[in-house]
Amino acid sequence: MGSIYIQNNKDKYINFFSCCILVRGFERSTIYDIQRETIEFIPNTLIDFIEDIRGRKVSDVLEEYKLNKTAKEYLNFLEKKEFIFYSSNPSFPNLSAISINEDTSEILFTTVILSQHIYDNIDTFAKNIRQLGVKRLHLHIDNGNCMDQLLKILSSLEYSQASNVSLSFPYQKINKKVYENKRLTSITLFNSPKKQSLINNDIIKNYITCDDSKLFLTRFNLFDIAIGINAYNVAKNYNLALFKTIFIDRNGNIKHNFSDKNSYGNILDDFEEIKTNTVKTLSKLWSIKKDDIEPCNVCEFRYCCTTTYLPEKGKTGYKVDCNYNPYTAEFN
Ligand code: SF4
Repeated sequence: MGSIYIQNNKDKYINFFSCCILVRGFERSTIYDIQRETIEFIPNTLIDFIEDIRGRKVSDVLEEYKLNKTAKEYLNFLEKKEFIFYSSNPSFPNLSAISINEDTSEILFTTVILSQHIYDNIDTFAKNIRQLGVKRLHLHIDNGNCMDQLLKILSSLEYSQASNVSLSFPYQKINKKVYENKRLTSITLFNSPKKQSLINNDIIKNYITCDDSKLFLTRFNLFDIAIGINAYNVAKNYNLALFKTIFIDRNGNIKHNFSDKNSYGNILDDFEEIKTNTVKTLSKLWSIKKDDIEPCNVCEFRYCCTTTYLPEKGKTGYKVDCNYNPYTAEFN
């Protein structure tokens, strides 16, 4: 049983890489490789198997499972995917938790629906985005001829901390100067005559044929996951989807997400007001982890999901109505 590699390591112990996180779901489980930033779907029985063999001598495991075909497949899979390694040490320290309080930003992720109103107050808007410490910014414009407006907004954000900027606007010719912006990572062009994906100056351009009506609806899809040490640490302590995340509508209202009926302040308010009142009110939901929400608490995506559902308090605890059903592993 097992590869030549495992046969040559019979006297060693089986170890699971500490950067690979096992997350048990109801219907299926996952392994988050937070170093490679990838996710692997696995059956729940594989988690049981890993828990059984972890830290055990290779020769003992080979003996116990010598007649088990599935165990052989599991071992080959774990070895091939480099989730396990063999060592003279039976165990290694777990990944140490990094402090998530080192980041001094008030807000990290922001989506903005730009409008003439915000554009007319661009200096105040840019100053507040800068002072909030926003690192990842999405700007949405619904003007079919927005290149001048866009270049002015990008230039006003020159001194912000935003290191990752993405854009969405209607299909149109893109001014070459836009590609010179080093923070720009992706552009979504909606109402495009043709669906396609292109890369220009390392910027991903997604041309989509539909309009923008569904772009910001809260729905889970597999593009909405964040696998990495920072995201995992936040998800263990906070609601990863809502933590330091805001949505700014065309009137400047600050909300949790596109569907949020409440407004907690305005991006054109005085910064001290935003910092002391708006952020404080928003942060009330940040500590409701996916572990505390039904059905997220049995979902294999609970430590990587960035879908901004707002938890509602029911009789038995918090719940969300997600389009992904972790009990069946199906999308509605
Ligand atoms: S059930 Fe919860 S954790 Fe799972 S995909 Fe939906 S919102 Fe995310």
